[in-house]
Amino acid sequence: MGQSVGYAGRHGRVSGDFNDDKPRAPATLIAQAGRRRALTGGIVNPPVYRASTCLFDTLADLDHAIAHPDAGLYYGRRGTPTIWALDEALTALEPGAAGTKLYPSGVAAAAAALLAVVQAGDHVLMVDSTYEPTRTFCDRTLKRFGVETSYYDPLIGADIEALIRPNTRVIFLESPGSLTFEVQDVPTLTAIAKARGIFTIIDNTWATSLYFPAISHGVDLVMQSLTKYVVGHSDAMAGAVTAAPSVWERLKSQSYQLGQCLGPDEAALALRGLRTLDVRLARHHDNGLKVARWLENHPKVDRVLHPALPSCPGHAYFQRDFKGASGLFAFTLQQGSRADMAPFVDSLRHFGMGFSWGGFESLVLPVEPHRIRTATRWDAPGQLIRLHIGLEDADDLIADLDQGLARLG
Ligand SMILES: *Cc1c(COP(=O)(O)O)cnc(C)c1O
Repeated sequence: MGQSVGYAGRHGRVSGDFNDDKPRAPATLIAQAGRRRALTGGIVNPPVYRASTCLFDTLADLDHAIAHPDAGLYYGRRGTPTIWALDEALTALEPGAAGTKLYPSGVAAAAAALLAVVQAGDHVLMVDSTYEPTRTFCDRTLKRFGVETSYYDPLIGADIEALIRPNTRVIFLESPGSLTFEVQDVPTLTAIAKARGIFTIIDNTWATSLYFPAISHGVDLVMQSLTKYVVGHSDAMAGAVTAAPSVWERLKSQSYQLGQCLGPDEAALALRGLRTLDVRLARHHDNGLKVARWLENHPKVDRVLHPALPSCPGHAYFQRDFKGASGLFAFTLQQGSRADMAPFVDSLRHFGMGFSWGGFESLVLPVEPHRIRTATRWDAPGQLIRLHIGLEDADDLIADLDQGLARLG
């Protein structure tokens, strides 16, 4: 995408005007990507452009824009430098990616990724541990348009071959899985898909491209809820899909037809969050593991489902493929009903109770995967509790959990 917006582009040593092809480490990319002078005008961050109409000086300029709608400013829905800066930065974090499209939420991004590759008569293989609204989109919307979805065990690995049908168009992955954290053998699944001409999409929200660069593991479309770690402060909703070259034109065209775009203020908040993603994730990693290890030794805890611990299904794939863990994991209790859990969760002072995660703050959420699954069974002696470990002091969080667990019968 060209983005000449009329700034005199002095060669930019201040910013992300990369004038060489030298590879940059992720922490450097996070600071520099999406900061070309053409986007920022020479200020550190790009301005927040609130735009619908873009004005053309002459008929020749208008006709040039019509002939090259991606070459610069055209109309608000096609983006402004605020949007392109975020696109470029997210693309830079996925080696091998051709481009990124932005959406008003993660759910919208998952829907757009699926719609970019399926048509009537196709079959989708969806991981059984996927985020529930992604499931609902397949079971209701895709079904209405003649696309069938079946579900597979997240740990299936090479046995997925047996589930592939002549009309299977896409294998959808989420690793680790929502609520239960199974880590998938992504390279095996993408290699099988590629050999059969099947597209792969991954929901990469948990790890982000920093801890799991998915395109280099063979995935075609990498979907993220930016609402979580990229925004990072629980104050905006946004989604993204980053595409390998093979599917970039389809994704771009499909997203444009759907009228998808992101507001400039959300884009600016996502850019602000992105600049500190690596330092925040490192703290989430350390804090999360410290709390998870403490829970492992608690007598009222049955099992801790944290990808970096051996008790998590698919832990070996985590060890092989991931650069780190974020702050979201779950644990099961030894016994008790949902109502029995109330004294524990209601007493917590450092954990808010609510949906979403990825912000700076800790959260607790009792969850019920057995209501959602169809291809696999969820069995545990007690309730499943999901924690998001934020940036607070880990010992304060542990003390809070300790007093809460003491209230359980
Ligand atoms: C939250 C979430 C989404 C959806 O993102 P929104 O921005 O809330 O629409 C998708 N996938 C996963 C794994 C999520 O946790």
